[in-house]
Amino acid sequence: MIPLENRTKTIAIIGGGISGIVTCKESLATGVLLPTVFEKSEGFGGIWNNDPKYGRTWTSVRTNISKYSCMFSDFPHGNYVKEGQDFLDTDQVHQYLQEYIDHFNLFDHFKFQTLVTSARYIDNEAKWSITYSNVKTGESKTENFDFLIVASGVHTVPSKEELQGVDLETFKKDGGKILHSVSYKSSENLKDNRVLVVGNSNSGCDIVNDLCKQNTATYHYFKRPYWIIPRYLNVGKTLPIDSVIFNRSSQAQSLARTPLERNKYDNAFFSSQIPLQVKLESVRISEDQHVEYHPVCISDTYLENLKESKFKAITSKEPNLHQIITNEKIDTIVLSHGFNCDLSYLSDDVLSTIKFQPDNYQVVILYKECIPPRSIKQMGFVGLYKGTYFPSIELQARMITMMFVGQLPYPSDEEMEKGLKEEEDIRYAEPKRMFPHVDYVDFTDGIARVVGALPDMKQLETTNPELYQKIYLAPHNAASYRLVGPHSNPEQAEKMINHFIADINSRK
Ligand SMILES: Cc1cc2nc3c(=O)[nH]c(=O)nc-3n(C[C@H](O)[C@H](O)[C@H](O)COP(=O)(O)OP(=O)(O)OC[C@H]3O[C@@H](n4cnc5c(N)ncnc54)[C@H](O)[C@@H]3O)c2cc1C
Repeated sequence: MIPLENRTKTIAIIGGGISGIVTCKESLATGVLLPTVFEKSEGFGGIWNNDPKYGRTWTSVRTNISKYSCMFSDFPHGNYVKEGQDFLDTDQVHQYLQEYIDHFNLFDHFKFQTLVTSARYIDNEAKWSITYSNVKTGESKTENFDFLIVASGVHTVPSKEELQGVDLETFKKDGGKILHSVSYKSSENLKDNRVLVVGNSNSGCDIVNDLCKQNTATYHYFKRPYWIIPRYLNVGKTLPIDSVIFNRSSQAQSLARTPLERNKYDNAFFSSQIPLQVKLESVRISEDQHVEYHPVCISDTYLENLKESKFKAITSKEPNLHQIITNEKIDTIVLSHGFNCDLSYLSDDVLSTIKFQPDNYQVVILYKECIPPRSIKQMGFVGLYKGTYFPSIELQARMITMMFVGQLPYPSDEEMEKGLKEEEDIRYAEPKRMFPHVDYVDFTDGIARVVGALPDMKQLETTNPELYQKIYLAPHNAASYRLVGPHSNPEQAEKMINHFIADINSRK
């Protein structure tokens, strides 16, 4: 590791969540960059900050994809993950990040309780001027940096309080309580309430399940049913969901289908995996709807709870939600319909160049969701789209930090134009998929290709068929991006992959 005092370029990283942490580590890996991570909260982890004051999760949350996917390429989970456990709770994700920070000596690069209020590019100095303030004392400072990374996340501001046909202001005036899912921490506080949960994303369904544990009178309102899939699927063996859906073999097959074939295939697969959902009227997706795209939500107990009438599902077919709220004497509404992104520290011209739309599922338009058009200099974005996972965030961090210091070429004008168009097409595609990059493995491989970290699968098939099989069939994991290319560590990567495969093979 190059000593810190010999580093010639400074980089400001806004946000100390997963994206900021890995960008800090990858900045150091260049041997050139000296990072400072600005984090407005008291600790690191962002959404996974285990201090309920700051985190975006609640006590009972577990990751909705397995430990294989919630891991960086060069740092396996420790023994806080119990034998046979696949899905982590907030404390375990936090513990992982803590150990990662300790291992790579990142802690001293963080400035906590420091809110960035403005980031402006100074043309004649070729620097980013960052103004930040201490959230406790209010003391403000401005400092210049060579590079800027925006890693402040998309889950920043709870979406506006709105519920069609319901006057929420009057509801509040009449003594009703309105919570956004971000303020929901535990069902304990709502034990004796009559609660309406709005929205059927992962968070909405998780909160409904959590309330069911307390025998709270719970109602769940959503516009259309999603597939409610459990964390484990049975495909001959019982495997974590991401091991089935996010591997190169299943994603290659999926990409080979036309959109219509894909809808039919996915819907048929889900209905065979979740027979209970097909039987329950309020969440049924019938066979004649199999030609359409249906989003998914991950929940293990939702359908059982519905079957056992532990809560009541209300769909948008219901003509009068206001009436239901009155008749059922609802006293608390939990709004779980998402977040908007806040980038108010950036200037209007930057925001307009990156086509910022705070409430869009794809908030900015960037090459590989990371690099802005060439007119914006020395700046990148990490983790700024909905549906980010550890491997793609890490690759974005590797790509942009290496480009900053000239270890990788910037995309050519042609590549940039093509890349921006691809992202813009995704923003305006109809029907909208759940996340901009549901073809997550393909998207992540695309960044790895630019970094030079994607193994040549064709060549591998003949030169090392055993490894080829492992990479092709393994649950998608970041370690497969350390087999080749810059900063690779094939020995450690193969060891990690072997461990995943052995673990998967041992399943029944
Ligand atoms: C409920 C929920 C469950 C999820 N489950 C999974 C899962 O199982 N697996 C998975 O891989 N992903 C999951 N995700 C996706 C999640 O987006 C990523 O895992 C990841 O946490 C995103 O990290 P981030 O660092 O980009 O953003 P964040 O975690 O949001 O971190 C951004 C940080 O920036 C700070 N910040 C913002 N503005 C400023 C400013 N102006 N100045 C200083 N600091 C600032 C914030 O305080 C925050 O700490 C889930 C998301 C949610 C909401």
